[in-house]
This record gives sequence, structure tokens and C-alpha cells, in this order.
Amino acid sequence: MHKRNILILGSTGSIGVNALEVVSRFPERFEVLGLTGFDRDDVLLKQAERFHPKFVGVSSGKVKDVEARLFGKGIKVVNAETELEFLAALADVDIVLIAITGRAALEPFLTAVRSGKTVAPANKEALVMIGDLIMEEAAQNGATVIPVDSEQSAIFQCLQGKDRDFLKKVFLTASGGALKDVDVERFDGLSVARILDHPRWKMGRKITVDSATLMNKGFEVIEAMRLFGLRADQVEVVVHPQAIIHSMVEFCDGSVLAQLGITDMRIPIQFALTYPQRLESGLKGLNFVELKELTFEKPDLKKFPSLALALDVARTGGTLPAVLNAADEVAVESFLNGRIRFTQVYDVVAEVVADHRSVLYSTVEEVLRADQWARERAVEIIEQQAKV
Ligand code: NAD
Ligand code: MG
Repeated sequence: MHKRNILILGSTGSIGVNALEVVSRFPERFEVLGLTGFDRDDVLLKQAERFHPKFVGVSSGKVKDVEARLFGKGIKVVNAETELEFLAALADVDIVLIAITGRAALEPFLTAVRSGKTVAPANKEALVMIGDLIMEEAAQNGATVIPVDSEQSAIFQCLQGKDRDFLKKVFLTASGGALKDVDVERFDGLSVARILDHPRWKMGRKITVDSATLMNKGFEVIEAMRLFGLRADQVEVVVHPQAIIHSMVEFCDGSVLAQLGITDMRIPIQFALTYPQRLESGLKGLNFVELKELTFEKPDLKKFPSLALALDVARTGGTLPAVLNAADEVAVESFLNGRIRFTQVYDVVAEVVADHRSVLYSTVEEVLRADQWARERAVEIIEQQAKV
């Protein structure tokens, strides 16, 4: 069997580590061609020793050190700040798994689709920013985009072999986040440690904060619109605390299909890597009798204004989703660094969004200008607001 060469951007993170576990189950199918990470060099070095990639990417300050540590192993060390696009375009690469957090994924994502690769994005920020352009480029260049985000993977799976013309809407499920049962009056005093303690999924820090505010679900609404060509009114968020149904699609005849499974990211990661095949994952199946019930609720938009804001932004479109994303990246980072309180994350993002005049764009540069403006505006607002 011809092995598929895989490049994992962000291999030291939560998704990256899970992806390598999946890859290690199928040594006869995958060859790890490249691994990159911005942090956790020790993890990256161990991964390099184990999977023998041709390329390893690290942040610019660490290239020399990592080069010395990998000396004689035939691994080329590149700069993950400037050379991710070079890696994504390499002729030998078959699959690009994008497991980087935030805006940094945008350029390598675009390059991967322009190079006609199979692209498995876990990253949603780039899709929120310019998902329509990414999908257009993918179609023009023969790239296949298979989402890893569990909700989008569920929708993708439910749509297999279906005529999109008959799709009416999608139901995006949300576990409800870490604060579902916490009184809103207590939100203001919530510490970083408390927010990072998510009940259902173990994830990176940024997405865990976004899950607590439900901004993550708002991003996923926009992500679904871009991946599947939907209008905002065709995506409905449903809170489903058991997180067993990962999302559903409804067709025009009223028939609904759902994808179910245990909450383990290795399932959607494996699906994306082995698509269109399905292989034994070694993971537990579902025990419906033990589950007993699957419940559903409306999201509380008053308690979670970030979701309400993102839904508004989804309806407006243009450069506004990129502004939402940029402001959120800055605000979440400031919260994680202890500069602002939890509830100020929403305040900052809402103010930046309110200050922006959305325009329809046709180029990546226009979106990047809006992104840059939003970051600067968010920093200004944080400086004014910090710890008031
Ligand atoms: P993480 O923080 O655990 O890992 C991020 C990875 O990206 C690390 O390897 C880090 O070194 C690298 N990285 C960070 N900033 C970078 C930069 N500027 N340039 C290059 N590399 C950089 O995050 P994660 O939880 O694995 O999430 C990754 C992406 O997948 C996010 O966009 C997230 O929204 C999405 N996602 C994650 C999960 C999950 O279960 N963790 C589920 C769905 C979607
Ligand atoms: Mg998700």
C-alpha cells in the first residue's frame, strides 16, 4: 500500500498529540513527513525521535538549539514562524493536519489548499476569518477539506453521499461549556484555573476559554457556514450536555441524521486521516443502556452574550467575523495572562465589534487589514479597561 505522507502543524498541542496517537496505530498507512510546534520542545523532540520526520518546525529563537539536539538524525529544522507555508506546499506532502491555534494557521491553510492537498483542519479561526476564500481555493485547486472539529466532522459524515440541494439546516450541538451550571453572578470572579477545567473535553487553553464563554460555539456556527455553504439561519445551536451527538443535519423532507460517539477527538481525527475509509480505532463504542438519556436545551444567550454576539456577526458577515476572531484572540490571551477578568473578555470583544464597519471583501489582504485593526483596537481597550 502506498503510504500517505502527513504533515502535522501544531503537533505538540492537544489535537497534535492525539493525531500522532492515531498515526501510530497505522504505521503501514502513514509516514510522518513533518512536525511543528511553538512550545513544549521536549515533547516535539520526543515526537521527532519516535516518528523520524524529514522536517521539524520550531519558533525562530529555538532553531539553533533544536538543530543541535537533533544533529545527525537526518531531520531538517525549520522556522515555524516563517516556513509553515514552505512545508505545506512540499510536493511530498499528501495530508496537512492543521492543529495550530488562532490566526497563525491562515497562511499555511491557504497554501495547503492552493497546493491541492488533503487538508484536515482542527483550526477554526482561519475558517472564521476567510473560510469562503479557503473553500473556493480548495475547489479550484482540487484540494479536499475534511474537518476535524468534532461538530463539523459530524456534519461532514452525515452529508456523505447526500445531495446538498436537499439539505435544509444543521443542528450544531454544544455541551454547554464549563459554566453551564454556574450562576452568572459568579462569572466575574472566576479564575483562569477554574475556566481551564472543562468537564467534557481536554483541550488547549484558548479553545477552553472560548468554550466557557460559548464563543467557541459561535465560531463553529461561522465555521459550518463556510465549510458547508450555509446561511446563518440554516445553523441552529442546541445545548446537549452529554456531548454524545456531535451534530445533526436535517433534510427538506424532515428527516434528521446525527453522528454519535464517545467524546474523544481521536475519532474525528482518524476519520479525517483515513477518509473515505473507516478503520478499527480501538476506542470504546457507545453503551446506550448506560447512557439512559440524551437531553437538549436552548442556549442561554443572556448568560452567554458571546454566543449572541457571534450569531449577529455570522449574520452580518464581510470582514466582521475576522474582527470578532482577532479581538477574541487578544482578549483571551489577556485573560490568560491575568490582565483582565473573565467577563471583560466579552466586553472587549463586543466593543471592538461595535467599532468596526464591516465591508464585503474579495482579497485576503482586506481581511488581514481588518484583523490587524481589530488587534490594535482590542489592545487599546484592554489598556483602558485593565483590571478596573
Ligand atoms: P493547543 O494550544 O493544545 O495546541 C496548539 C499547537 O499550535 C501547539 O503545538 C503550539 O505549539 C502550536 N502553535 C501555537 N501558536 C502557534 C503559532 N503562532 N505558530 C505556529 N504554531 C503555533 O491547541 P489545541 O487544543 O490542540 O487546538 C488547536 C486548534 O484545534 C485550535 O484552533 C482549536 O480551536 C481547534 N480544536 C481543538 C479541539 C480540541 O479538542 N483540542 C477540538 C476542536 C477544535
Ligand atoms: Mg468543536
